Amino acid sequence: MKVKAVSSNRKEAREYQTPSSGLFFKVKNVLYEKKSKYQKIEIIQNDFYGRVLFLDGLVQTTEKDEFFYHEMLVQPALCSCRQPERVLIIGGGDGGALREVLKHSVEKAWLVEIDQEVIRACEQYFPWLEASLSDPRAELAIADGFDFIQKTKERFDVILVDSSDPVGPSAILHARDFYFKLKKVLRPGGIIAAQSGSQLLHLKEHGQKAKFLKKMFSISRFYSAPVPTYPVGTWCYNFLSDQIDPLKVKKLRIPAGLKYYNEEIHRASFAQPVFFKQAIR
Ligand code: SAM
Repeated sequence: MKVKAVSSNRKEAREYQTPSSGLFFKVKNVLYEKKSKYQKIEIIQNDFYGRVLFLDGLVQTTEKDEFFYHEMLVQPALCSCRQPERVLIIGGGDGGALREVLKHSVEKAWLVEIDQEVIRACEQYFPWLEASLSDPRAELAIADGFDFIQKTKERFDVILVDSSDPVGPSAILHARDFYFKLKKVLRPGGIIAAQSGSQLLHLKEHGQKAKFLKKMFSISRFYSAPVPTYPVGTWCYNFLSDQIDPLKVKKLRIPAGLKYYNEEIHRASFAQPVFFKQAIR
Protein backbone atom coordinates (compact mmCIF):
# COMPACT_ATOMS: atom_id res chain seq x y z
CA MET A 1 0.00 0.00 0.00
CA LYS A 2 0.98 3.61 -0.36
CA VAL A 3 1.16 4.20 3.36
CA LYS A 4 0.85 7.80 4.31
CA ALA A 5 0.90 10.92 2.26
CA VAL A 6 1.90 14.41 3.24
CA SER A 7 1.01 16.74 0.47
CA SER A 8 1.70 20.25 -0.70
CA ASN A 9 2.94 22.66 1.93
CA ARG A 10 3.06 24.94 -1.12
CA LYS A 11 6.83 24.59 -1.48
CA GLU A 12 7.13 20.85 -1.55
CA ALA A 13 4.68 17.97 -2.07
CA ARG A 14 5.66 14.65 -0.54
CA GLU A 15 4.30 11.19 -0.90
CA TYR A 16 5.32 8.66 1.72
CA GLN A 17 5.34 5.44 -0.29
CA THR A 18 6.45 3.40 2.71
CA PRO A 19 6.62 4.63 6.32
CA SER A 20 10.29 5.48 5.80
CA SER A 21 10.70 6.47 2.16
CA GLY A 22 8.98 8.35 -0.60
CA LEU A 23 8.98 10.88 -3.38
CA PHE A 24 8.95 14.66 -3.29
CA PHE A 25 8.15 17.36 -5.81
CA LYS A 26 9.11 21.00 -5.64
CA VAL A 27 5.88 22.93 -6.09
CA LYS A 28 6.15 25.72 -8.62
CA ASN A 29 2.43 26.54 -8.33
CA VAL A 30 -0.57 24.95 -6.68
CA LEU A 31 -3.00 24.95 -9.62
CA TYR A 32 -6.01 23.29 -8.03
CA GLU A 33 -7.10 22.22 -4.56
CA LYS A 34 -10.52 20.91 -3.60
CA LYS A 35 -12.02 18.44 -1.19
CA SER A 36 -14.68 16.46 -3.05
CA LYS A 37 -17.23 14.10 -1.52
CA TYR A 38 -14.73 11.26 -2.05
CA GLN A 39 -11.23 12.63 -1.80
CA LYS A 40 -8.85 15.57 -1.68
CA ILE A 41 -7.89 16.63 -5.21
CA GLU A 42 -4.72 18.63 -5.82
CA ILE A 43 -2.89 19.56 -9.00
CA ILE A 44 0.52 21.16 -8.75
CA GLN A 45 3.06 22.39 -11.29
CA ASN A 46 6.56 20.90 -11.08
CA ASP A 47 9.50 21.90 -13.27
CA PHE A 48 10.37 18.37 -14.37
CA TYR A 49 7.08 16.44 -14.26
CA GLY A 50 4.78 19.30 -15.36
CA ARG A 51 1.28 19.05 -13.92
CA VAL A 52 0.93 16.43 -11.19
CA LEU A 53 -2.44 15.12 -9.94
CA PHE A 54 -2.72 13.92 -6.34
CA LEU A 55 -5.77 12.24 -4.82
CA ASP A 56 -5.65 12.16 -1.03
CA GLY A 57 -1.98 13.09 -1.31
CA LEU A 58 -1.06 10.16 -3.57
CA VAL A 59 0.31 10.73 -7.06
CA GLN A 60 -2.12 9.57 -9.75
CA THR A 61 -0.65 11.00 -12.88
CA THR A 62 1.94 13.46 -14.16
CA GLU A 63 2.21 15.10 -17.56
CA LYS A 64 5.75 13.82 -18.02
CA ASP A 65 5.39 10.11 -17.30
CA GLU A 66 1.66 9.33 -17.71
CA PHE A 67 2.26 7.60 -21.07
CA PHE A 68 4.18 4.74 -19.44
CA TYR A 69 1.21 3.88 -17.25
CA HIS A 70 -1.67 4.60 -19.63
CA GLU A 71 -0.23 2.91 -22.71
CA MET A 72 0.59 -0.16 -20.65
CA LEU A 73 -2.83 -0.32 -19.03
CA VAL A 74 -4.63 -0.05 -22.36
CA GLN A 75 -2.52 -1.24 -25.29
CA PRO A 76 -1.69 -4.87 -24.39
CA ALA A 77 -5.43 -5.63 -24.11
CA LEU A 78 -6.67 -3.50 -27.00
CA CYS A 79 -3.92 -4.66 -29.35
CA SER A 80 -4.56 -8.32 -28.44
CA CYS A 81 -8.35 -8.18 -28.81
CA ARG A 82 -9.74 -9.58 -32.08
CA GLN A 83 -12.34 -6.84 -32.46
CA PRO A 84 -12.33 -4.23 -29.73
CA GLU A 85 -15.67 -2.56 -30.46
CA ARG A 86 -17.08 -1.80 -27.03
CA VAL A 87 -14.69 -0.77 -24.30
CA LEU A 88 -15.38 0.05 -20.65
CA ILE A 89 -12.99 2.01 -18.43
CA ILE A 90 -13.66 1.99 -14.70
CA GLY A 91 -12.00 4.85 -12.80
CA GLY A 92 -9.54 6.72 -14.98
CA GLY A 93 -10.93 10.21 -14.39
CA ASP A 94 -7.71 11.81 -15.59
CA GLY A 95 -8.61 10.65 -19.11
CA GLY A 96 -5.29 9.07 -20.11
CA ALA A 97 -6.80 5.60 -20.55
CA LEU A 98 -9.70 6.95 -22.62
CA ARG A 99 -7.28 8.79 -24.90
CA GLU A 100 -5.38 5.52 -25.48
CA VAL A 101 -8.58 3.55 -26.20
CA LEU A 102 -9.71 6.12 -28.77
CA LYS A 103 -6.51 5.53 -30.78
CA HIS A 104 -8.26 2.31 -31.89
CA SER A 105 -11.28 2.17 -34.19
CA VAL A 106 -13.66 1.28 -31.36
CA GLU A 107 -17.41 1.84 -31.69
CA LYS A 108 -17.93 3.05 -28.19
CA ALA A 109 -15.93 3.71 -25.03
CA TRP A 110 -17.50 4.27 -21.61
CA LEU A 111 -15.64 6.09 -18.86
CA VAL A 112 -17.16 5.33 -15.46
CA GLU A 113 -15.67 7.62 -12.84
CA ILE A 114 -17.09 8.02 -9.35
CA ASP A 115 -15.94 11.58 -8.75
CA GLN A 116 -17.34 14.39 -10.91
CA GLU A 117 -14.81 16.78 -9.33
CA VAL A 118 -11.86 14.73 -10.67
CA ILE A 119 -13.35 15.10 -14.15
CA ARG A 120 -13.82 18.85 -13.68
CA ALA A 121 -10.27 19.36 -12.43
CA CYS A 122 -8.67 17.19 -15.11
CA GLU A 123 -10.68 18.74 -17.94
CA GLN A 124 -9.17 22.03 -16.94
CA TYR A 125 -5.57 20.92 -16.43
CA PHE A 126 -5.02 17.78 -18.57
CA PRO A 127 -6.16 18.80 -22.08
CA TRP A 128 -6.32 15.22 -23.42
CA LEU A 129 -9.38 14.56 -21.21
CA GLU A 130 -11.50 17.29 -22.76
CA ALA A 131 -10.41 16.24 -26.25
CA SER A 132 -11.27 12.59 -25.56
CA LEU A 133 -14.64 13.34 -23.99
CA SER A 134 -15.65 15.39 -27.00
CA ASP A 135 -15.08 12.35 -29.26
CA PRO A 136 -18.55 11.10 -30.31
CA ARG A 137 -17.54 7.52 -29.41
CA ALA A 138 -16.94 8.43 -25.76
CA GLU A 139 -19.58 8.34 -23.06
CA LEU A 140 -18.98 9.54 -19.51
CA ALA A 141 -20.91 8.10 -16.56
CA ILE A 142 -20.45 9.54 -13.10
CA ALA A 143 -21.03 6.41 -11.06
CA ASP A 144 -19.47 3.86 -8.81
CA GLY A 145 -17.82 1.23 -11.02
CA PHE A 146 -19.20 -1.65 -9.00
CA ASP A 147 -22.79 -0.31 -9.20
CA PHE A 148 -22.38 0.36 -12.90
CA ILE A 149 -21.46 -3.20 -13.79
CA GLN A 150 -24.23 -4.59 -11.59
CA LYS A 151 -26.82 -2.52 -13.47
CA THR A 152 -25.53 -2.32 -17.03
CA LYS A 153 -27.20 -4.24 -19.84
CA GLU A 154 -24.17 -3.63 -22.10
CA ARG A 155 -21.51 -6.22 -22.87
CA PHE A 156 -17.88 -5.30 -23.50
CA ASP A 157 -14.96 -6.56 -25.57
CA VAL A 158 -12.40 -4.97 -23.28
CA ILE A 159 -12.73 -3.76 -19.69
CA LEU A 160 -9.98 -1.62 -18.21
CA VAL A 161 -9.77 -1.06 -14.46
CA ASP A 162 -7.96 2.22 -13.92
CA SER A 163 -8.55 2.46 -10.21
CA SER A 164 -6.62 4.17 -7.47
CA ASP A 165 -5.04 2.06 -4.72
CA PRO A 166 -7.18 -0.30 -2.62
CA VAL A 167 -8.15 2.31 -0.04
CA GLY A 168 -11.23 4.57 0.01
CA PRO A 169 -13.69 4.35 -2.91
CA SER A 170 -11.30 2.14 -4.90
CA ALA A 171 -11.04 -0.69 -2.36
CA ILE A 172 -14.06 -2.42 -3.89
CA LEU A 173 -12.39 -2.46 -7.32
CA HIS A 174 -9.66 -4.82 -6.12
CA ALA A 175 -11.90 -7.50 -4.62
CA ARG A 176 -12.92 -10.96 -5.85
CA ASP A 177 -16.60 -10.02 -6.12
CA PHE A 178 -15.84 -7.21 -8.49
CA TYR A 179 -13.93 -9.46 -10.90
CA PHE A 180 -16.72 -12.01 -10.71
CA LYS A 181 -19.18 -9.33 -11.85
CA LEU A 182 -16.81 -8.02 -14.53
CA LYS A 183 -16.58 -11.46 -16.06
CA LYS A 184 -20.36 -11.55 -16.47
CA VAL A 185 -20.40 -8.42 -18.64
CA LEU A 186 -17.53 -9.52 -20.88
CA ARG A 187 -18.31 -10.62 -24.44
CA PRO A 188 -16.89 -13.98 -25.62
CA GLY A 189 -13.22 -13.45 -26.47
CA GLY A 190 -13.19 -10.42 -24.17
CA ILE A 191 -10.23 -9.18 -22.15
CA ILE A 192 -9.88 -7.41 -18.80
CA ALA A 193 -6.77 -5.39 -17.97
CA ALA A 194 -6.41 -3.92 -14.50
CA GLN A 195 -3.77 -1.94 -12.72
CA SER A 196 -2.77 -3.98 -9.70
CA GLY A 197 -0.08 -2.06 -7.87
CA SER A 198 3.62 -2.03 -7.19
CA GLN A 199 5.52 -5.24 -7.83
CA LEU A 200 7.57 -5.04 -4.65
CA LEU A 201 5.36 -3.02 -2.33
CA HIS A 202 2.12 -4.95 -2.97
CA LEU A 203 3.68 -8.39 -3.24
CA LYS A 204 1.36 -10.01 -0.70
CA GLU A 205 -1.74 -8.55 -2.39
CA HIS A 206 -0.58 -9.87 -5.79
CA GLY A 207 -0.33 -13.35 -4.29
CA GLN A 208 -3.87 -13.12 -2.89
CA LYS A 209 -5.29 -11.74 -6.14
CA ALA A 210 -3.50 -14.35 -8.27
CA LYS A 211 -5.24 -17.12 -6.31
CA PHE A 212 -8.79 -16.07 -7.09
CA LEU A 213 -8.08 -14.77 -10.60
CA LYS A 214 -6.53 -18.08 -11.68
CA LYS A 215 -9.70 -19.87 -10.63
CA MET A 216 -11.92 -17.38 -12.43
CA PHE A 217 -10.19 -16.97 -15.82
CA SER A 218 -8.58 -19.54 -18.13
CA ILE A 219 -5.85 -17.01 -18.86
CA SER A 220 -4.64 -14.91 -15.94
CA ARG A 221 -1.28 -13.24 -16.41
CA PHE A 222 0.57 -10.43 -14.69
CA TYR A 223 2.58 -8.00 -16.75
CA SER A 224 4.62 -5.02 -15.68
CA ALA A 225 6.18 -1.72 -16.66
CA PRO A 226 8.18 1.03 -15.02
CA VAL A 227 6.17 4.11 -13.99
CA PRO A 228 8.69 6.65 -12.68
CA THR A 229 6.39 8.37 -10.17
CA TYR A 230 4.61 5.27 -8.85
CA PRO A 231 5.82 3.69 -5.63
CA VAL A 232 8.82 1.43 -5.35
CA GLY A 233 9.82 0.68 -8.92
CA THR A 234 8.04 -1.60 -11.33
CA TRP A 235 4.23 -1.42 -11.70
CA CYS A 236 1.99 -4.47 -12.26
CA TYR A 237 -1.15 -5.12 -14.24
CA ASN A 238 -3.46 -8.13 -14.67
CA PHE A 239 -4.39 -9.49 -18.10
CA LEU A 240 -7.48 -11.72 -17.85
CA SER A 241 -9.41 -13.61 -20.50
CA ASP A 242 -11.03 -16.95 -21.20
CA GLN A 243 -9.83 -17.09 -24.81
CA ILE A 244 -7.01 -14.68 -25.56
CA ASP A 245 -3.50 -15.47 -24.39
CA PRO A 246 -1.43 -12.30 -24.88
CA LEU A 247 1.68 -14.38 -25.53
CA LYS A 248 0.05 -16.27 -28.40
CA VAL A 249 -1.41 -13.35 -30.32
CA LYS A 250 0.08 -13.56 -33.82
CA LYS A 251 -0.56 -10.01 -34.97
CA LEU A 252 -0.88 -7.23 -32.42
CA ARG A 253 -3.05 -4.37 -33.75
CA ILE A 254 -0.80 -1.48 -32.70
CA PRO A 255 -2.16 2.01 -33.43
CA ALA A 256 -0.02 4.95 -34.52
CA GLY A 257 1.15 7.61 -32.10
CA LEU A 258 2.49 5.56 -29.17
CA LYS A 259 5.55 6.50 -27.13
CA TYR A 260 6.17 3.42 -24.97
CA TYR A 261 4.39 0.28 -26.10
CA ASN A 262 5.56 -1.79 -29.08
CA GLU A 263 5.75 -5.46 -30.00
CA GLU A 264 8.98 -6.12 -28.10
CA ILE A 265 7.66 -4.38 -24.98
CA HIS A 266 4.45 -6.43 -25.21
CA ARG A 267 6.33 -9.75 -25.08
CA ALA A 268 8.88 -8.60 -22.51
CA SER A 269 6.31 -7.13 -20.12
CA PHE A 270 4.91 -10.59 -19.36
CA ALA A 271 8.29 -11.86 -18.10
CA GLN A 272 8.45 -11.99 -14.31
CA PRO A 273 11.38 -12.08 -11.88
CA VAL A 274 11.97 -15.03 -9.56
CA PHE A 275 10.66 -13.43 -6.34
CA PHE A 276 7.43 -12.40 -8.06
CA LYS A 277 6.82 -15.82 -9.59
CA GLN A 278 7.24 -17.31 -6.14
CA ALA A 279 4.74 -14.84 -4.66
CA ILE A 280 2.01 -15.56 -7.21
CA ARG A 281 2.56 -19.30 -7.49
N1 SAM B 1 -3.80 4.56 -11.94
C1 SAM B 1 -3.70 5.66 -11.13
C2 SAM B 1 -2.94 5.29 -9.85
O1 SAM B 1 -2.81 4.14 -9.50
O2 SAM B 1 -2.45 6.19 -9.19
C3 SAM B 1 -5.06 6.19 -10.86
C4 SAM B 1 -5.85 6.56 -12.06
S1 SAM B 1 -7.37 7.36 -11.87
C5 SAM B 1 -7.02 9.00 -11.43
C6 SAM B 1 -8.21 6.59 -10.55
C7 SAM B 1 -9.66 7.08 -10.48
O3 SAM B 1 -10.50 6.06 -9.98
C8 SAM B 1 -9.87 8.29 -9.58
O4 SAM B 1 -10.22 9.41 -10.36
C9 SAM B 1 -11.00 7.87 -8.64
O5 SAM B 1 -11.93 8.90 -8.36
C10 SAM B 1 -11.63 6.73 -9.42
N2 SAM B 1 -12.37 5.78 -8.59
C11 SAM B 1 -12.07 5.36 -7.35
N3 SAM B 1 -12.99 4.49 -6.90
C12 SAM B 1 -13.91 4.34 -7.90
C13 SAM B 1 -15.09 3.56 -8.03
N4 SAM B 1 -15.51 2.77 -7.05
N5 SAM B 1 -15.77 3.64 -9.21
C14 SAM B 1 -15.35 4.44 -10.22
N6 SAM B 1 -14.23 5.22 -10.13
C15 SAM B 1 -13.52 5.16 -8.99
